[in-house]
Amino acid sequence: MVVMPTADSDHYAALGVAPDADADEIRAAWRFQLAAFHPDKFRDEEQRGRAEEITKRANAAWQVLGTATDRRRYDHLRETGDEAREQITAARSIPCPSCATPGQVHDVGGEVVELTCPACRIEFAAMVGALCVRRPTLERGGWFKLRYVVGFRSNRGQESIIRFRNFPKELALTQGERFSVVFDPRTSQPVYAVNHAPAVDIAWKVG
Ligand SMILES: [Zn+2]
Repeated sequence: MVVMPTADSDHYAALGVAPDADADEIRAAWRFQLAAFHPDKFRDEEQRGRAEEITKRANAAWQVLGTATDRRRYDHLRETGDEAREQITAARSIPCPSCATPGQVHDVGGEVVELTCPACRIEFAAMVGALCVRRPTLERGGWFKLRYVVGFRSNRGQESIIRFRNFPKELALTQGERFSVVFDPRTSQPVYAVNHAPAVDIAWKVG
């Protein structure tokens, strides 16, 4: 089991971007975080509190990384601390299937790992960093059910098929890109598909 460190220690991790992301990517990631975690979107008080926390961290990261001179100073400080650098090497931002809090996980090239949510502590499985190997196809299940069938491959060559109840059309042309899939701990059904390309981790609700 891997306990996910929270992202508040690193500005790049807070925005889910690579340390070599360019200014446009950083701005896009910041705006995405603000839109996705706008506290008004959450009715539940606890979830709203977490959304506020995420928004606060994103704004703090933007204040530093959004200004060239501040960013250079921060990069220098950051590179002198091995621990911080280690933590975000190929880190993936993976949302909890229950409370949606993102946690940072090392990319494991498409293996399925057991994770613990840093906020609500539930344990869940996620396939982290798999390659999407073909265009999704539509499959008719029992009754009126339709499923989107997506093929993935791990770095070890293990192929797997995952069926999604929803699959946003934005994900239809993501063949050859890296994905993580978060599974519901009770039903084992996919809850989030996270697209790691180009540099931002974008999670889509699929269950
Ligand atoms: Zn959680």
